[in-house]
Amino acid sequence: MSALSISTVVGVVGAGTMGAGIAQVAAAAGHPVLLFDAWEGAAVNGRERIGKGLAKLVERGKMSQADVEQLMGRILVCDDLSELADAGLVVEAVVEDLQVKRDLFARLEKITEDDAILATNTSSISVTLIASPLARPERFAGMHFFNPAPVMKLVEVVSGLATADDVAQTLYATAGAWGKVPVHASSTPGFIVNRVARPFYAEALRLFEERVATPATIDALITQCGGFRMGPFALMDMIGHDVNYSVTKSVFDAYYQDPRFRPSITQLELVNAGWLGRKSGRGFFDYSEGAGRPSAATLAVLENAGCFEQSPISAAPVKLDGVLFSLTDGRPARERAEAEGMPTVLYDLMLDSGKAPRIGFTASDEVPDKIIDCFVATLQNNGKAVTRLKDWPGLVVMRTVAMLANEAFEAVMHGVSDEAGIDAAMKFGVNYPLGPVEWARQIGLDHVLGVLDVLYKATGDARYRASYMLRTLCGVTQR
Ligand code: NAD
Repeated sequence: MSALSISTVVGVVGAGTMGAGIAQVAAAAGHPVLLFDAWEGAAVNGRERIGKGLAKLVERGKMSQADVEQLMGRILVCDDLSELADAGLVVEAVVEDLQVKRDLFARLEKITEDDAILATNTSSISVTLIASPLARPERFAGMHFFNPAPVMKLVEVVSGLATADDVAQTLYATAGAWGKVPVHASSTPGFIVNRVARPFYAEALRLFEERVATPATIDALITQCGGFRMGPFALMDMIGHDVNYSVTKSVFDAYYQDPRFRPSITQLELVNAGWLGRKSGRGFFDYSEGAGRPSAATLAVLENAGCFEQSPISAAPVKLDGVLFSLTDGRPARERAEAEGMPTVLYDLMLDSGKAPRIGFTASDEVPDKIIDCFVATLQNNGKAVTRLKDWPGLVVMRTVAMLANEAFEAVMHGVSDEAGIDAAMKFGVNYPLGPVEWARQIGLDHVLGVLDVLYKATGDARYRASYMLRTLCGVTQR
C-alpha cells in the first residue's frame, strides 16, 4: 500500500503540544495542512509556536529560511471545522476525553469525503471504542506520535477491531514517507510503548522499596551499565509522577489488575505530597536552586590491591583463585555459591561489558575480602566505577531487562505487534539502546527465562511469571 500523495490535504484538529508538532511533520513532508482548534486563538498560537521552533533550526544552521517559509506557507489555520472538507487525512490531537473525541469524529465524518482517513493520536483510549459509533469505523485508526512529534521517530499505527487493513497500511506508509518509524499495533491498553515500558519504572520502584539501592545508584546502573539514556528515577521526575502514576494505574486497571502492571505506593505518596518531579521542584531528586544530586554508591578507588591478570568478566563464568565470577542468572550469590560448591561473585548485566563505565556486583559471604578487593581493583584499573549491591535476586539491570523482555514477548503473543515492531517501538519511542526482544536473544532466552523463574520463585509474586511465549521458545513449558 502506498503513502498518501503529498497533494493530499492533511487536517490536524487540536493545536496543542501534539497537534502543532504533527502539523509541522505533515507540512515538512510537503502536504498542505489545515490546523483547527476549538479554543479561540489556539490554532494561531500553535502555528506561531511551530514558526518559533523552526526559527531556532535556522539559527543553528539546520534549516534554511526559504525552507521554513515554504513549510509555514503550507500550514493554514481554520476558523471552523467545516473548512476541513477537502482533507484526505485528519489527525486528531484534542484533549484525552472519549466523549469529546467521539463528538469530534461524528462531525468530521459528515464534513469529509467518504474515503478520507480519520486518525486519533490518543495515548490511552481504545481506538475501537472511539470508532464504534462511526458510520465508517473501517476508515478510522490510531496514529500515535510521541512527544515532541517533530523529533521522536516512532508512530504507532493502531488498528481497532473495525479498521480496514488498507487504511492501516496507508497510514504506515504515510508515516514512513514523513520520515518516521511506523509500527503496527492493535488497539490494546497502552498499545506497545506505554505497555512494554511499564517494568522500566516498576522494577526500579520495587528495587528502591526493597532497599536494594538508592534512586541515584539505580539510575547510575541503568544508564552506565544498561546503556539507557536516562535512569528511571530521573525519567519519572521528568515525566511527572502524577502523569506516570496515572498511566500506570490506567494500564493496570485496563488489564483487570494484572499484577504485572501493579502501581507503586511510593509513587502514589510522591503524588500525595505534591512532589511531582521537575515541574514541582521536587520528586525523587531535589530540583531547587543549589540542591546537589545525590551520588551513586561507588566503591573508593583501591590503590594497593592486587589485580587479576585474567579478566573476571567474560561471556562464560570464570574461576579465579577458587572463586566463581559470573553474570547473574537471577539467583542470589549465596544460592549460586551453594549450587556451584564455590564462593561466588555475580555481576549485573551490561549492554557492552567492555565499554560500560560502571559495573554492579554482589558476592556470597565466603568470598575472601582480598579477592573482592582484587576484583574491584581490576575493574577500576579498566576505568570502571564499581557498585557493590545487596545479595538480591536478578540484581538491577538484569532484572529490569528480563522484565521488559517478558512484557515484549507477552505483547507479541497477544498479537499487539510483532517482535520487530516492538523492538522498533522501544528504540524509537523511548530511546532504548536495544529492543527488548533482540536484547533477550543476545543474553540468551534460556538465561532470561531462568532469571524470571528465580524472581517468581523468590517473591511468589505473579508479576514475575514468565510469558508462555518465552517459555515455548525455550522449550520449557513448565516451571
Ligand atoms: P494539549 O492540551 O496540549 O492540546 C489539546 C488541544 O486541543 C488544546 O489546544 C485544546 O484547545 C484543543 N481542543 C480541546 N477540545 C477540542 C475540540 N473538541 N476540538 C478542537 N480542539 C480541541 O494536549 P496534547 O498534549 O497535545 O494531547 C493531545 C492528544 O495527544 C491527547 O489525546 C493525548 O493523550 C495525546 N498524546 C499526548 C502526548 C504528550 O506527551 N503530550 C503524547 C502522545 C499522545
